Amino acid sequence: MAGYDYDLFVIGGGSGGVRAARVAAALGKRVGIAEEYRFGGTCVIRGCVPKKLYVYASQFPEHFADAAGYGWMVPEASFDWQTLVANKDREISRLEAIYKRNVEGSGGETFHSRAMIVDPHVIHLLGEDRTVTADQILIATGGRPAAHPALPGHEHCIFSNEAFDLKELPKAIMIEGGGYIAVEFANIFHGLGVETTLVYRGKEILGRFDMDLRRTLHETMEKKGIKILCHAVSESVSKRPDGRLDAQLTSGQVLTVDQVMLAIGRIPNTENMGLEGVGIEMTAATGAIKVDRFSRTNIDNIWAIGDVTNRVQLTPVAIHEAMCFVETAFKNNPTAPDHDTIATAVFSQPEIGTVGLYMVTSSSAAVGCTA
Ligand code: NDP
Repeated sequence: MAGYDYDLFVIGGGSGGVRAARVAAALGKRVGIAEEYRFGGTCVIRGCVPKKLYVYASQFPEHFADAAGYGWMVPEASFDWQTLVANKDREISRLEAIYKRNVEGSGGETFHSRAMIVDPHVIHLLGEDRTVTADQILIATGGRPAAHPALPGHEHCIFSNEAFDLKELPKAIMIEGGGYIAVEFANIFHGLGVETTLVYRGKEILGRFDMDLRRTLHETMEKKGIKILCHAVSESVSKRPDGRLDAQLTSGQVLTVDQVMLAIGRIPNTENMGLEGVGIEMTAATGAIKVDRFSRTNIDNIWAIGDVTNRVQLTPVAIHEAMCFVETAFKNNPTAPDHDTIATAVFSQPEIGTVGLYMVTSSSAAVGCTA
């Protein structure tokens, strides 16, 4: 559309947004993409990538312990948290630059700015105090950890974002939640030598997985020394005079720890973007953008993909939704992502994964194959 500055303007430079921008630009479309924080989004900057680096770091003690059996004499090992954090930062900066470069190399234009939709074809870039127009708009602003304002003392708690960059490795941590993030971080912190307690409100961790996997992982984690308290939630978190935290649980126990990390789900980033102003429909429960099966919102030229739609919060899914969006919007080939039977893995230690049909109800009975 020659009348607009761009054929496509993408808001959000995470995995989904960058893929859509890059592929559309490579088709010869005039593409702009705005990211207010860092290109790479959750996965690269504060999710999968740094998490995986920390998983690797946390596995070394077991390798050292096994080494002697294979004839390797490893002198007493020591660990430096600050070195890990600094090297993690270096790696994500490298990937961030690649994400940005890939868009620009395909002919897209990148903006370091928050973007607001002021009209279905008009976007205001706050960082540049400038307005641009676009034929199609794609919202890919992702999500963030769900807060817990009802918990007295929640201000003392951290989320996964902060866990990556703690100034010091805690001696003891309590992690609340029984999902992907809680389980992965419990294994990471334990592997790095932190006394770790997982507190989960349900009867067994990882509600969306096959019960055999859940039980086996639970037992294995406990054998390693991770404490798992099911049927419990924290009632309050208070700071002690010595700076440590007391977490009072519904079970009556009080855990004294250095950090309390909440991992109780993630919510979509849809606030202060002008969405209500242009009439984009969102769900009442989470504020997720409602889309049809082609990722189109109720406004014809505005689309949304990835975690902001709260369909399936997984990076490869967002990337696939981006590819389907490009097919639909720019290649005259309407393509709906298929959200059934998505393979998924938890980077616990050991890792678990599910492939094929599985139930997402509370019964979590597996009806397909797992691996
Ligand atoms: P999940 O939805 O996986 O787990 C949330 C957990 O918090 C559940 O155990 C839930 O309990 C519990 N919970 C929810 N509300 C409360 C509350 N008020 N008090 C106490 N517990 C509560 O979310 P995560 O935050 O772990 O991860 C978010 C998403 O990120 C995941 O759904 C996943 O899609 C994605 N992710 C994927 C990874 C991967 O692919 N390896 C890694 C990390 C994240 P209940 O089960 O009873 O509802």
